[in-house]
Amino acid sequence: MDKQQEFVLRTLEERDIRFVRLWFTDVLGVLKSVEIAPAEVEGALTEGIGFDGSAIEGFARLYEADMLARPDPSTFQVLPWRDEKALTARMFCDVVTPDGLPAVADSRWVLRRALAAAADAGFTFYTHPEIEFFLLKETPRRGQPVPAPVDESGYFDVTPNDLSHDFRQQVIGVLERLGISVEFSHHEAAPGQQEIDLRYADALTIADNVMTLRQAVKEVALRQSIYATFMPKPFTEHAGSAMHTHMSLFEGDRNAFYDPTDEYRLSKVAKAFIAGLLAHAPEITAVTNQWVNSYKRLIGDAAVGEGGELLEAPAYACWGHSIRSALVRVPLYKRGKANTARVEFRLPDSACNPYLTFSLMLAAGLRGIQGGYELSPPSGDDLWSLTDAQRRERGIRALPGSLSEAIAVMETSTLVRETLGDELFEFFLRNKRSEWAAYRRQVTQFEINRYLPLL
Ligand code: GLU
Ligand code: MG
Ligand code: MG
Repeated sequence: MDKQQEFVLRTLEERDIRFVRLWFTDVLGVLKSVEIAPAEVEGALTEGIGFDGSAIEGFARLYEADMLARPDPSTFQVLPWRDEKALTARMFCDVVTPDGLPAVADSRWVLRRALAAAADAGFTFYTHPEIEFFLLKETPRRGQPVPAPVDESGYFDVTPNDLSHDFRQQVIGVLERLGISVEFSHHEAAPGQQEIDLRYADALTIADNVMTLRQAVKEVALRQSIYATFMPKPFTEHAGSAMHTHMSLFEGDRNAFYDPTDEYRLSKVAKAFIAGLLAHAPEITAVTNQWVNSYKRLIGDAAVGEGGELLEAPAYACWGHSIRSALVRVPLYKRGKANTARVEFRLPDSACNPYLTFSLMLAAGLRGIQGGYELSPPSGDDLWSLTDAQRRERGIRALPGSLSEAIAVMETSTLVRETLGDELFEFFLRNKRSEWAAYRRQVTQFEINRYLPLL
């Protein structure tokens, strides 16, 4: 037993905790949980708790045998939304085989491995996500229209009935009790759309925190009889929900992205990292934007809805300071401060698997550093008025326009294969091909409306 494990056992007793939930994440980024009695925790910490791997997405087909969930004691927290009289705690788990080896389908392990590769190169990887989501008036039902958003407000608005504001404050309160700091929160551009930004930390902690935030948001919504969704694009006429992620690499306590002598305050390392992101973005899009619906968001700088709401989601692998819909943005504010030097990657949506997404963003950036990639000049808003040929001349590539296109690029990627590992890579592609095949068979309302009166 190490100190952290002892702390968990002592806290269970001192606070009379009745239940302990062991959390882990499947390949598609869905949280899984098994609840154990406090008496089982010691065994779980030292040996792990068995579960049927074949019943979990991503673990199925890869394993016949039982898997073990082994809790990470550093993630021990009491769940604030559970009954105060029968306290429930949770820990995130690493998943291992009965032989004690890391399970190849465990995305937390994939991220640990990617972080170890960065550490070998001398870097610690920090992230800070901006998580967007919608609040709807009621729980959606299959076959029914999407329920209405809880309000009609927009970007930074103060909502008249303050429902969204109270909601965000409650979520932040819950997160703080779970040891998660929130930096920023506001109403987003679309009706009912919210954003909560987590304070930066190492990428593994942040991936766990993203999973916790999603759960906290769902729990708080449930208690208010509303519904929260992280679906990338629930409404045709409104912006989708992104998970912009700010990133920096540190060498010890020095921000390796900062160079005070550069006009953008960006070091060579930062520029090569951005070049890596731009070069490899199309290959990693199937993971950062993993659903058929994700591609309804990635349509660039269009304006939608009656109010001309801007979508501001990326469609091209470009970068800049103030360009709307950039794939990579270098924030200019606070640029004099060394430790805040960072790059913002605007591709992922709020329904990604954060472990796999962070692993691939890091791998793409590191490849840029290690391969000495050159950064192209920044783009401005004129990008949107260029023709495809002009964009190609400037070396600006389009991002995949559909899940099918994204799968096709990912299939050829050694970067993604190496980062995810062969088994997870193959599983992911199989799963996504079958999602695309199911989608392709559908005759949609769009087709009925457009063709039936005409043809
Ligand atoms: N919701 C937008 C998107 O889908 C991002 C809005 C923003 O710039 O925060 O990417
Ligand atoms: Mg936002
Ligand atoms: Mg942003």
